Amino acid sequence: MSRPRIAVLPGDGIGPEVMQQTLRLLAAVAPDVEPIMGLIGGAAYVKHQAHFPAATRDLIDDSDAVLFGSVGGPIEQAHLPQWRGCEVNSILALRQHLGVFINHRPARIFPALRALSPLKNERLEACGEVLILRELLGDVYFGKKRTFKENGCMIAEDVATYTEHQITQMAHQAFQTAAARGGQLCSVDKANVLDTSRLWRQVFTAVATDYPTVQLQHMLVDNCAMQLILNPAQFSVIATSNLFGDILSDAASALPGSLGMMPSASFNATGFGLYEPAGGSAPELTGKDVANPMAQMLSLAMLLRHSLDRPAAAAAIEQAIEATLDQGHRTPDLMAAGGQPVGTTGFTDQVLRHLP
Ligand code: NAD
Repeated sequence: MSRPRIAVLPGDGIGPEVMQQTLRLLAAVAPDVEPIMGLIGGAAYVKHQAHFPAATRDLIDDSDAVLFGSVGGPIEQAHLPQWRGCEVNSILALRQHLGVFINHRPARIFPALRALSPLKNERLEACGEVLILRELLGDVYFGKKRTFKENGCMIAEDVATYTEHQITQMAHQAFQTAAARGGQLCSVDKANVLDTSRLWRQVFTAVATDYPTVQLQHMLVDNCAMQLILNPAQFSVIATSNLFGDILSDAASALPGSLGMMPSASFNATGFGLYEPAGGSAPELTGKDVANPMAQMLSLAMLLRHSLDRPAAAAAIEQAIEATLDQGHRTPDLMAAGGQPVGTTGFTDQVLRHLP
């Protein structure tokens, strides 16, 4: 049997540093998996004058999954050709190239880091992980847009569109995910106001009959925003449309306490996966060995579990990270929770030590 191949795209800023450390874990838990390195973002522009060059597309098309770092440069350099349009031309183009339509973003509360969360401990006590599933290819982001003048007044329009097919595809994925995680699914919409939401709710309700073990609940997005902060423990899996998912998943990312800990996974209709940290390239941390590598490492764990069917290797990484935190090792973004300071490399050394 041929070795699994994963396309590894470190990108810019802290991307290459956290990726380098994450690949040490890959070599330890799945030495047969072959990482094929590719350029994307500003790093690709320097060599190819393109943020998502053909060579990188070819490499992805020849892989079993993609592990992505982050792209983009310092805000004050945004005018330079290397950085102008970098995110749109690289990560957004990559998502479109792959046709990934669902984004999984788990917000996990690590017991050792509860003090870091902006929420009071008693609100977090029963809360392990909230998984937000966001639809990625529909809604106002992809509908017709125009800005025009009528009777001397400027008007702007962004059309939100969803097809029954798009929602059905999303709903099946959401029910299957919920079925594998305890059987609770909360579908979030704005069905009291929006036609797209009414269709969303209708389709989710119809698809529910195929999944009798899953308990479906509908919630309006404004209420959900409040409930996520008041009582996050009530949620297991939340499924929602593109715009609501964008906002709710960022709100949920505050629960664990640092952006540096949030992984994510996106899938297309064939199940091909793209895995990446939820945060960006953090240029101010670059080259200092201070970035938290957890989000990249947990993205690799998701890749091993979902794309390569290696649940034991995934669990080994997750448990070793938890043990490292329990022992008190902290990158600077986690120091508010107390503990011993370590850098990106030092944190990884500890995770490697705690692997089974
Ligand atoms: P950012 O996510 O890079 O940083 C936001 C905050 O989180 C900063 O305080 C940063 O220090 C912190 N942070 C992020 N990752 C961290 C980590 N691993 N460890 C410790 N702290 C971490 O967002 P920004 O500052 O708004 O943007 C910086 C650059 O990243 C921009 O060029 C932007 O376009 C780009 N960006 C890229 C992506 C992506 O590649 N998917 C996503 C968001 C932003």
